[in-house]
Amino acid sequence: MSAYDELSLELSDVSDVLNALNLLNWDARTQMPSGGAGSRGQQIATLSAIAQQRLASDRLLTLLDGCETELEGLPENGVERRSVAAARQASAFYRRLSPSLTREFAALKTVAQGRWAEARAANDFALFAPDLERVVAFSRELAETIGYADHPYDAMVGLYEPGMTAQRLEGLFAELRQGLLPLLRRITDSGVTPADDFLHLEYPVDSQRAFALEVAQAFGYDLTRGRLDASLHPFEISLTRDDVRITTRYDQHFLSQALFGLLHETGHALYEQGVDPSLARGALTSDLMNLYAVAGTSFGAHESQSRLWENLIGRSQPFWAHWYGRLQAHFPSQLEGVSVGAFHRAVNRVAPSLIRVEADEITYNLHIMLRTELELGLMDGSLLVRDLPEAWNAKMQDYLGITPPSDSLGVLQDIHWSSGYIGSFPTYTLGNIMSCQFFEAARQQQPDLELRLASGDYAPLRGWLTQNIYRHGRRFTPDELLRRSTGRPLEVRPYLEYLEQKFIALYGLERSSA
Ligand code: ZN
Repeated sequence: MSAYDELSLELSDVSDVLNALNLLNWDARTQMPSGGAGSRGQQIATLSAIAQQRLASDRLLTLLDGCETELEGLPENGVERRSVAAARQASAFYRRLSPSLTREFAALKTVAQGRWAEARAANDFALFAPDLERVVAFSRELAETIGYADHPYDAMVGLYEPGMTAQRLEGLFAELRQGLLPLLRRITDSGVTPADDFLHLEYPVDSQRAFALEVAQAFGYDLTRGRLDASLHPFEISLTRDDVRITTRYDQHFLSQALFGLLHETGHALYEQGVDPSLARGALTSDLMNLYAVAGTSFGAHESQSRLWENLIGRSQPFWAHWYGRLQAHFPSQLEGVSVGAFHRAVNRVAPSLIRVEADEITYNLHIMLRTELELGLMDGSLLVRDLPEAWNAKMQDYLGITPPSDSLGVLQDIHWSSGYIGSFPTYTLGNIMSCQFFEAARQQQPDLELRLASGDYAPLRGWLTQNIYRHGRRFTPDELLRRSTGRPLEVRPYLEYLEQKFIALYGLERSSA
């Protein structure tokens, strides 16, 4: 057997372990009784350690060395050499990483999450601060282990978005901010406040589920390889391409929550279901650095697909022109007398608010920039944990014109930092930016695409996305995917153009002459 074949078998084992981990995590978030949390934590730690040991093993290193000569002459970006490169990176990382650091970090995260929840409930940042200081210290140690050229944040964001750096982010976000802030000001100054009271009537959960699932299936979500459950925090998780699960959260008195949440997770699911079968159980459907079974190539690329299906399609005028009748059939009394135009304006209402997960398409990015800037400061030591609440509130005032009345509604609102996810926030906005660049290319390359979308036919769009993005799994970096399918590197312009065009029309603003 060739070294590459042996390596593939080895990585298939690792992939099985990572998929089993995903199943344990899915169960913990959807079915598990709360009493199971302790033993589940141990099971997850054990499986993670097994995957880590396999990746750090001498045997893997020997196979990787064997592959180098064996695969010489094959294209650098082919499946074989890219699989070897992914395994090589993980091998180097886990051979450098001390197992005690992983164990301590895992234990810290469990404690920190608990303390964060307590602190949020009590509106007492000081309660969480010591744990957050330790999370920051661990993250800085992790960054040193991974290595970076300029800024320790490069190592952290690179875990979620290969190729992204603090410097690139600063450039992209500055350009975005320059477009977003004036647009937001024009919207708030317009005095237009679309009515959305009808979204808060009573909407029976069964009908909410039925309608949203109908749309998800029309998008192409394959229920023979998927399922929908309810959970406190909506998510998508895959146990290979043939079992891709999504969840949503229902609010009987707010129609948007489950509906758009489900369209979002459907976008994630289409990416996972669309990967080429030949890549299943391999290095290109496994995030070996984060020990996570996933076919999407980065957090940002993944998010580009959830946002594309949720926002560019699901919140668009043609979408509602097609689907609104169906929705009204599900909810005749609630939507009686509400025109499709009024409904479309309501689900796109822009209003600066305190909470990121409830933010509209424009202000959402300002929440992300704020977090990214604070994380940069924490990682390079220019911002101390104890000064975080003040820095948070100052930026909220600066970007959104509001100051949180409490830390629970401010700096304590997200679980991410207590879970050790420093560096993941920017991927949400990167996803927004990418989504428009991909969508623009799809429209340019398929002249009848808009017509097909307007008639509720999503197969051509899904086909383009599968061809250019989904099927490749983790073979190409996000930058490579963009260059191959759009001919250009990541750029902010298509996203800003999309937002301006959409919200100028929705709010009846004058087109600016600039
Ligand atoms: Zn998402």
